[in-house]
Amino acid sequence: MKWTDIIGHKEQVTMLRHMESSRRMPHAVLFAGPKGIGKNLVANVTAAALLCSDQEERPCGRCHSCQQISYGSHPDFLLIVPDGTNIKIEQIRMLQQELSMASFSGKRRVCIIDGAELMTTQAANSLLKVLEDPPGEIIFLLLAANKQMLLTTILSRCMVIAFQPLADELLAQDLMAKGYLPETSEVAARLSGGRMGIALALLEPEGLALRNQALEMIQNLMDSKLETVWHSAGVLEKMERNDILEFIKYVTYILRDILLLVTGQGKQLLFNIDAKEDLCEVADMWSERRLVTAIRAVESARRALLANANTRLTSEALLIRIYDLAREV
Ligand SMILES: [Zn+2]
Repeated sequence: MKWTDIIGHKEQVTMLRHMESSRRMPHAVLFAGPKGIGKNLVANVTAAALLCSDQEERPCGRCHSCQQISYGSHPDFLLIVPDGTNIKIEQIRMLQQELSMASFSGKRRVCIIDGAELMTTQAANSLLKVLEDPPGEIIFLLLAANKQMLLTTILSRCMVIAFQPLADELLAQDLMAKGYLPETSEVAARLSGGRMGIALALLEPEGLALRNQALEMIQNLMDSKLETVWHSAGVLEKMERNDILEFIKYVTYILRDILLLVTGQGKQLLFNIDAKEDLCEVADMWSERRLVTAIRAVESARRALLANANTRLTSEALLIRIYDLAREV
């Protein structure tokens, strides 16, 4: 595990490296930014650097500490992740207990709290006590996708480093370097919203299945027969609510791409660049105004589903709306 394993996040890495090498790492650092963009990797490399015993290059990847980290068995490296949907007070109590004993190496300890915003109020208050009066030398690296959910008292004790999603090109380049084909890398990078974790999931053999289904459905709706609506509604009915929401997200991306084509924006901006030709064909049936209406209809269906609306009725109504809009003059 090395700094050079990190893709992007240059400024953040430079700052962390500087604080580590000058021995000025604050006691609590909060890594804030969307899920799946690489905060975890950066935090792990930072922890390895803080624990590494090399004089020159940290993390060196060779010393005893670095090896223990890579095996996940470093006794002074503590990791807390949500137990189910949140981080519970018992977890923080166990941490306190552990910290009340001397560190194994006699040197500093590092604790990563992943999903820090998921701490229960009691857990957060309990952690606050540790942050206010740390037992021995310990550095906390808190990771949060939604920093607004953290107690302000915790926030005020942390140095906040904000992380942004990666640029599409950077992500695509890295995927290609990992051996994925250029076109699929580009599509995955664009659909992932700059999140490496999501991009990798999309590159799994079945990763694009839902996107392909959404594309097929939009194409079918252009067909003149109304039965296609009932057929598609039947397909959606069999899906889990989360999958339908994911499916609907792709419908939005596809409609947005068609909008780009209809308004003559550069094809370079398409999310679904691999389906350019199919999209161009469908675009002939649409106008800008009707597409904007369709995208709004999809958005309100998504909100209704999030609010637990009936999936069959909601998706049927949405499909009929898109079907009608495609034909309106
Ligand atoms: Zn080392």
